[in-house]
Formats: sequence, C-alpha cells, structure tokens
Amino acid sequence: MLYTKFENKIKIKGMLTAVDPIHIGAASRESLNPVDVDSAVLKDIMGNPVIPGSSLKGVVRSSFEGILRAAGLRVCDIHNDKDLNCNSKQFIKDTKKQKLPLLKQAQIFYDQSCEACKLFGGRQFAGKLHFKDCNYIGDKPCIFEKRDGVGIDRETGAAARSVKYDFEIIPKGTRFDFELIAENLDENQQKYLELILDLLCGNGITDGDYLAVGGKTTRGLGRIRLDITEKITMTAEDYIRKIQDYLDPQEKEGVEKGASS
Ligand SMILES: [Zn+2]
Repeated sequence: MLYTKFENKIKIKGMLTAVDPIHIGAASRESLNPVDVDSAVLKDIMGNPVIPGSSLKGVVRSSFEGILRAAGLRVCDIHNDKDLNCNSKQFIKDTKKQKLPLLKQAQIFYDQSCEACKLFGGRQFAGKLHFKDCNYIGDKPCIFEKRDGVGIDRETGAAARSVKYDFEIIPKGTRFDFELIAENLDENQQKYLELILDLLCGNGITDGDYLAVGGKTTRGLGRIRLDITEKITMTAEDYIRKIQDYLDPQEKEGVEKGASS
C-alpha cells in the first residue's frame, strides 16, 4: 500500500513523561570547543525544553529494527556507507533506466523495501509515520538542572585531564505533549504500530523497558514513557463522507449515485 490514495489515517495523542532526566543537546554551533558543544539543552522560543519529532522517530526506528532483526526479518542498514540498503544505489539506477511511469517506479522501490523503510521512510520515499515535535507541558517555565561532565579527548577517547564541564538536563518527571500520525498502513503495519506504541508506553518486550532519547543514555539519562490519551482512526469511507459534507445536496446526490453505480 503505497501513498497514492487515501486509505486510512491514525492519529495518536498522548503525554510523554521523563522517567529519567533527559539531555537533548542544542549542539551549539557558535562554539568549536568540544566541551561547550552539546552542554545546553535544546529549547523552544519560550526557553522550555522540546523533544524533536526526528529524535523520537530515530529512537523508535532503531528499537523497531532490533525487534525485526531478532525475529529474523530482513532489515536494511540505512546508516551504513557500504550500501546495505533495501534499495541499493545500483538497483535505483537500474530501475530508473527502465523509464517506467513514476508511480510504477515508486511501487517497485516500495515493494523492494524492508518493513522499517516502508514505515519510517527510505531513500526513495517518505515514511508513513510522522512524529511531531513534543512540546513542554507545564504552567511554570521549566527549571533545568546541571550535571557534572568530564571532557573526552576526541583523539584518544580518554577522559581529558582536568577538563570538567556542566551540562544541562531536563528534570525527571517533566511532561511533553505527543502526537503521531500514521498514514495508509496495511493490516500488518497496523500491528507494527501497536508494537511501536507498546515500546513507547514501556509495555515492550520487557515490562517497564522504556525507550531513551537524547545523549548520555548510557549514563542513565533519557528514558521516556508515553501515556496515550486519544486514538482516532479515519478510514477511506470516513474520508469520502467528510468530502460529501462539503458538497451541496445536489452534488452529494451525484457522489452517492456515482458510488453506487
Ligand atoms: Zn530498508
């Protein structure tokens, strides 16, 4: 089921809670000092923390890929330079040479793709899951905490001698809004969506095994828990009904006649 016509749309809303303190670095571009880079937390214009949808998507994808691999399913490696993608550069080149209609071409790339690329996006098409940026929820501005860090020598990987620095963290218990939109999922992909939501809610393979976002996750930072508040599914029939609502009665009759003939 490629993204050519509307099949279904699932919107999931909820709230993310920081189970641990979180550090999502703002990756300051002003400083070239490795000690300064990444020490501040990414903030919105109000100065409150934000979890970018792209960060969340990356974490969910890699966890999902791990589960597929453990189940013996084929998953490509989009981060590998050695072209281990489900659509290799050569395959893309050869397919494009055939000069097929674009839609047909897109379908070939889609069919060739692993389940992770089909859902999260691959080289030749956008994914079906859209994670929105998660904004801070709270009446008062977020109060950040500081942690001690040790500078790492980028050459040797060893802790740089006497280079200590502070890094900002989002306190444990901080809450964020959450919204995920899934479009045109087939039956199997709808099951995968349930699995992904379970991972986010901490009902994964092991209970309470939460996903972690941001940096320094090996130092016990970053775990988040999702609580789902709303799940809306819109089918193609709902969509047609909605379009009909916009049409005047005469046109609406026409649509109904057209649909029944
Ligand atoms: Zn793939």
